[in-house]
Parts: sequence; C-alpha cells; structure tokens
Amino acid sequence: RAKGEGPGRSSIFDTSMHDQVRERIELEVALRQALAENQLRVHYQPLVRLETGIPVGAEALVRWEHPERGAIPPMTFIPIAEDAGLIGSIGTWVRQEALRQLGVWRSEGVVRDDFYLSINVSPRQLNEPELPLIVSGEMLRYGVPAHCVALEMTESVMVDGSSVTARVLFELRELGVKLLIDDFGTGFSALGYLRRFPVTGVKIDRSFVIGLGVNVEDDEIVRAVVAMSHALGLSVIAEGVETPLQREALYAVGVVNGQGWLWGKAVPASEFAERWHKDVIAGPPEVQVPAITS
Ligand code: C2E
Ligand code: MG
Ligand code: MG
Ligand code: MG
Repeated sequence: RAKGEGPGRSSIFDTSMHDQVRERIELEVALRQALAENQLRVHYQPLVRLETGIPVGAEALVRWEHPERGAIPPMTFIPIAEDAGLIGSIGTWVRQEALRQLGVWRSEGVVRDDFYLSINVSPRQLNEPELPLIVSGEMLRYGVPAHCVALEMTESVMVDGSSVTARVLFELRELGVKLLIDDFGTGFSALGYLRRFPVTGVKIDRSFVIGLGVNVEDDEIVRAVVAMSHALGLSVIAEGVETPLQREALYAVGVVNGQGWLWGKAVPASEFAERWHKDVIAGPPEVQVPAITS
C-alpha cells in the first residue's frame, strides 16, 4: 500500500490492480494455448528504398487473432510472453515461420536474391548461447543465405546484455546475419555500444519521423543520426513513414530506406507476394551505404 493514501483510495487501487492481474493471467493462459494450437501468424511489412518505393526486404511481425477477443496487438502480448517465459518459444516459432516463408519465396522466384527478412528478437533470446548454431541450422534447412536475414533488437540488449549476449551477437555477425538496432534513439543510452558490438544498422524510431518536414528539431536530429550512422558504416531505415512530406524530408537528409504505411502495412505472406513481387523482382538491388567522405 502506498504511503499516505487513505483506505478508500487504496481499495480502488487494489480493485484495479486485481483486474489487471486477472487480465494478465487470462492472456497468459490464452497465449500458451495460441502457441500450442498454432493460432499465431506472421505478417510482412515492406522495407523500401525511399527513392523508388521498391522493397529491399520486409519485417516479420507476429500477429495473434484471439478466438473471442479478436486481434491482440504485439505491444500487449509480447511483454506478457517475456514475463511468462514464453518469448523463447514464440520467437523460435516466428523465426522458423519467417525463414520457411523466405525459402519458399526464393525458390518460387517471388523475391530477388538479395531480398531480406528482418526478424525481431527479445533480449532473452539473445542470452541463449545456442542461438547462432540454431539460426545457422535453420538457414541451411530453408535455403536462406545469411545476408538475407536481419535480426532487430532494442538498444537495451547492448546496454544490459551479458557476456553471453555479446558472444551470441558476434557469432551471429560472423555467420553474416545483419544486426539492426530497433526503435533507435528511444533508449536514452550512450552510443558507445555501436562501437563495441557488431551492429550493422539502425532503425530510426517513428517518434523522430512524425515531425519531419514540420518540426526543424526533428529534421536536425535525423540528419545527425544519418551522418553518424553512415560515418560508422551503418545502414539506416526510417520507421513509421506515413506521409509524402516525411518521405521527402528523410530523402533530403540522406536516409536511403524506409518502412511505413505510406508504402504498406504488414500483411499475410500471400498478400505480400501478390502486391509486391513484380517490384521486388524487377527492382534494382539495395544501394551500398555511402562511402565515408573527407
Ligand atoms: P517494431 O519492431 O518497432 O515494429 C514496428 C511497428 O510499427 C509495427 O507494429 C508496425 O506495424 C508499426 N508500423 C509500421 N509502419 C507504421 C506507420 O507508418 N505508422 C504507424 N503508426 N505504425 C507503423 P506492431 O506490428 O504492432 O508491433 C509492435 C511491436 O511489437 C514491434 O515494434 C516489436 O517491438 C514487437 N514485435 C512484433 N513482432 C514481434 C516478434 O515476432 N518478436 C518480438 N520479440 N517482438 C515483436
Ligand atoms: Mg522491429
Ligand atoms: Mg521498429
Ligand atoms: Mg518501433
């Protein structure tokens, strides 16, 4: 009970806490069942070249359609999965499903040879010493080369990560997998980890993209992030691009790749292939990160 709160207040507090706990337990039970009964899905959102609007890859995003409650957003169930020790199983399922799908797309000629899938990984998964071996086995099994796989992780992985995590990241990088910092800029962390860990790119968080072209500070922040990233040889993807104005502003400050509703939401694999395969087949390959000048 919080200090200084009267009994009346704390009972309201207790009731709502109770509801929250009950809700959480219900979702945890339902999530276990969803996993066991194969109710989870993976949707794919294009990662495009700003210049052409052609996808260079896609992000795999997990989806859960609850039988009674409908779609439950990952922002709600991923934290529960993390607390309940389910994130390892969910992460493995999403990764295998995504790699299997990419293997199919590659063998059917739906995507170019350098088209990559970007898969979200939680800190807990990166603290598993066997992960690199497992991922390399999966890539072999589904016929997906390492340069067609990116793993997205938040800054907290680098900041709080154990020595096991560090080794896992170096081994994954050694395999040739891309390692991207998700929601870049939201972690309030020192940037030293960009030098210490084998990161290959950053995804600029949507919160910095929203004000582009309207708010001069946001333009300058993104410009600085791009300059630094390119100087360090890191790729840059802008998240949450919704308007042509944002696209123009990103292009103007040197961002090469973007992701957002301007081009398309995450959709099931069949819809993704239908919508994008002509572009992905015909389109030019991904440009290299600009060379360091001066
Ligand atoms: P994220 O990795 O930063 O993914 C981007 C989120 O932004 C996705 O939300 C995507 O649908 C949304 N988004 C994309 N473009 C736009 C846009 O133009 N405007 C707006 N407003 N939103 C946009 P989603 O799919 O709800 O996923 C939320 C978060 O859940 C993800 O954020 C990621 O942190 C987590 N997540 C999703 N799938 C997985 C997974 O398989 N494993 C793990 N560990 N986390 C996942
Ligand atoms: Mg992500
Ligand atoms: Mg992201
Ligand atoms: Mg984000």
